[in-house]
Amino acid sequence: AAVIVGIDGPSGTGKSSTSKAVAAKLGLRYLDTGAQYRAITWWMLSNGIDVDDATAVAEAAGKPEIVSGTDPSAPTIVVDGADAAGPIRTQEVTSAVSAVSAVPEIRTRLTELQRAIAAEAPHGIVVEGRDIGTTVLPDADVKIFLTASPEARAARRSGELKGKEATDLAATQAALVKRDAADSGRKTSPLAKADDAVEVDTTELTLDQVIECVVTLVEE
Ligand code: C5P
Repeated sequence: AAVIVGIDGPSGTGKSSTSKAVAAKLGLRYLDTGAQYRAITWWMLSNGIDVDDATAVAEAAGKPEIVSGTDPSAPTIVVDGADAAGPIRTQEVTSAVSAVSAVPEIRTRLTELQRAIAAEAPHGIVVEGRDIGTTVLPDADVKIFLTASPEARAARRSGELKGKEATDLAATQAALVKRDAADSGRKTSPLAKADDAVEVDTTELTLDQVIECVVTLVEE
């Protein structure tokens, strides 16, 4: 039977690297739901939609075609035929994504898409996000909730962004805390640990140790 793994947690916990590596090791597909929220946000910005106007965002929620490639060694995200992998990582998209993803019509649309992708994965899938264990796939076989201290998360984010933007550690930490608050405070599907999720604190662990820990939990 196909195995469904949900990995949730805030950014900077090693969620993407861990999810991709676990999927590759176990021969599963991989889905980055944050990339989908970023992709629809990029489309809104590109099409002149005011991301702070929830009504306008809701009206446009069904418009862009979003296709996620689920090979863990080469995941892709395509919006209306355009490769969105680069643009979804810009500061402009990162600043706007919390507002867009708070709109219920956006969440409904992407949740349905995510469930359909998971249902189609032949041997199973690792799905990473914020609400996978609680909302998208409440019947997942394995649920993981990754955490890390704010300092460790900011340091990892700065490392990822090096050479691009925000190499300043304090600024990165401030931006992270702000996005966490926006993600946690909203009424619709906040970042939350499912009651039956296993919490893994990655603060003192290397990436390889986190991967090993999650692989063990899936194989149990
Ligand atoms: O994981 P990543 O940082 O790329 O996610 C970007 C944003 O997408 C998050 O800050 C959050 O606002 C939103 N998101 C969400 N639900 C998910 C995944 C991401 O609301 N399942």
